[in-house]
Amino acid sequence: MAQSIRKVGVIGAGQMGNGIAHVCALAGIPVVINDVASARLKEALATINGNMARQVSRQRITEDDKQAALKRITTAESIDALADCDLVIEAATEKEEVKRKIFSELCPVLKPETIVASNTSSISITRLASETDRPEKFIGIHFMNPVPLMELVELIRGIATADATFEASKEFVSKLGKTIAVAEDFPAFIVNRILLPMINEAIYTLYEGVGNVEAIDTAMRLGAHHPMGPLELADFIGLDTCLSVMQVLHEGLADSKYRPCPLLVKYVEAGWLGKKTGRGFYDYRGAKPAPTR
Ligand code: NAD
Repeated sequence: MAQSIRKVGVIGAGQMGNGIAHVCALAGIPVVINDVASARLKEALATINGNMARQVSRQRITEDDKQAALKRITTAESIDALADCDLVIEAATEKEEVKRKIFSELCPVLKPETIVASNTSSISITRLASETDRPEKFIGIHFMNPVPLMELVELIRGIATADATFEASKEFVSKLGKTIAVAEDFPAFIVNRILLPMINEAIYTLYEGVGNVEAIDTAMRLGAHHPMGPLELADFIGLDTCLSVMQVLHEGLADSKYRPCPLLVKYVEAGWLGKKTGRGFYDYRGAKPAPTR
């Protein structure tokens, strides 16, 4: 039988971290969320509360389920609070040096048998694992956004990931009610290897003036039956995350077809990171999102 995951730690209380905590708590697993920014911890709890309330109103869960799940979530500003977790999922900012620093502080406080996972969208699991004291207990558990709604989780084994770690992670993900796709450890794995170059191409299409924001998103929604246009999706993912993934693809696969569009770089430099900062390819500050180009 696989090692059982009785308590989970989540590092990073952003959009992914709070979603991961949400699904763990609803699956009956106690979870502690850690973030360097204490304001993000408060916001995460409010977001989880709001998202669960929406699930109650849509009759996906009961009010009792919600209350019981909320009781399973605690927050902590200190990483020491993760000491008794069986699994810690890192979902902090998509920057390798940030993640490396987190693992160097985290591993010494953990039990030797604790599994460490990263929710990275693109960074090599093998490389992240090699920075830790437990490469055989390190794995990529890649949730999709928004976590409570998306059915898929990619599982990525690093070169050293042990079978026992993989089996325990599989069991954990199944307990959350998600479907697994196993991906090899190559830049951006499966979903983002395919999705992000499409989004980047949509940004080139905008940059070259082939269409404006509205035309591009309408074209892909109605012409390819995508539920969301690629630029709207980019805003939803976060333009900083989109740029990081393209940079990892470009550097990791050394192919010019992955070069990030200069317009994407410009938006990120402006701090227009999409929905989370109120402005990206759309401006979200009014009653209705308005295209910015
Ligand atoms: P986000 O910007 O919403 O949140 C990141 C959080 O990490 C912030 O709250 C920040 O304060 C925190 N953080 C930064 N440094 C930290 C540290 N040293 N210790 C603790 N917390 C720290 O980002 P996000 O969209 O939630 O993405 C998080 C991770 O999930 C990234 O690796 C990203 O690639 C991945 N991911 C994102 C998506 C998506 O659609 N946004 C989808 C799948 C995976």
